[in-house]
Amino acid sequence: MAAMIIDGKAISAQINSETAEMTAKLKAQGVTPGLAVILVGNDPASQVYVRNKVRTCEELGFESRKITMSEDVTTADVIREIEKLNNDPAIHGILVQSPPPPQIDEAALIDAISPDKDADCFNERNVGRVLIGHRDGVKPCTPWGVMELLKRSGISLSGKHAVVIGRSNIVGKPLAAMLMQKSRDANATVTVVHSGTKNLAEIVRQADVVIAAIGKANFVTADMVKEGAVVIDVGINRVFNPETGKSKLTGDVDFESVKEVASAITPVPGGVGPMTIAMLMRNTVDAAARTLK
Ligand code: NDP
Repeated sequence: MAAMIIDGKAISAQINSETAEMTAKLKAQGVTPGLAVILVGNDPASQVYVRNKVRTCEELGFESRKITMSEDVTTADVIREIEKLNNDPAIHGILVQSPPPPQIDEAALIDAISPDKDADCFNERNVGRVLIGHRDGVKPCTPWGVMELLKRSGISLSGKHAVVIGRSNIVGKPLAAMLMQKSRDANATVTVVHSGTKNLAEIVRQADVVIAAIGKANFVTADMVKEGAVVIDVGINRVFNPETGKSKLTGDVDFESVKEVASAITPVPGGVGPMTIAMLMRNTVDAAARTLK
């Protein structure tokens, strides 16, 4: 059976067009959504991510603010910039591109961002709200992107066994919380597996929905996937190909073999990746809308 390919590019474009409409309505009420991105240092991948975020802001009609700080700044320097943005009414979302240089205390930066402007949903208050299923707040971008991909592809989670591979604070843990919520679009039975799990392959084989978020290229192979399971690949790994001399983006799932057993699967690139940025933009427009309430 060849799997349905879940097209993250098309679904994120649909979400972005809804966000652009919401933006136009807010602007008519005198509010322009504003997203500020702080980039510390010269990491080339971070520069690309920030460029993409700024470009998407422009496409959707947002105000974007890019704050570039040199490699040798201190945590206190970055916090001073965050505080200015916290007090700036034109800014509704703030994020610091990860990873910052090693001298920077990333957790202190997360704490410094106003919970109302926490576009990534990393703040403790907002993470707690996700766990308790609070409906109106900011949501974690990548897990929310996964939930929207499933919902908009017509894949019901209710009563299904979802196995999340990976337990990071950014993906695995919040995604597990979202999948298990008692709500129409969730209601899954969730298992989380990680590097301490015994018989990982055996557990993954029991899943109706497999979500891989570990950062290991081609880790999930066809023999680990039940016939007809839905497979969502969050992984983004840069793999060097000695034949072409170039590196290629590869997911955590061995796409070519797994698509033969899965009923639906996301590609990398073009699956979860574009959803993450679409949900970041949605968080920002939602935060801007909340200032009118
Ligand atoms: P982390 O490195 O923070 O977490 C990885 C998790 O996977 C950990 O829980 C770790 O276990 C687990 N793990 C690692 N190796 C194994 C293994 N061999 N067997 C079982 N479990 C393992 O990664 P992130 O969650 O931040 O990201 C995961 C992947 O998703 C990466 O490729 C990243 O680039 C990608 N990503 C993609 C995004 C997108 O927009 N598409 C957004 C964010 C991330 P333990 O806890 O025991 O160490």
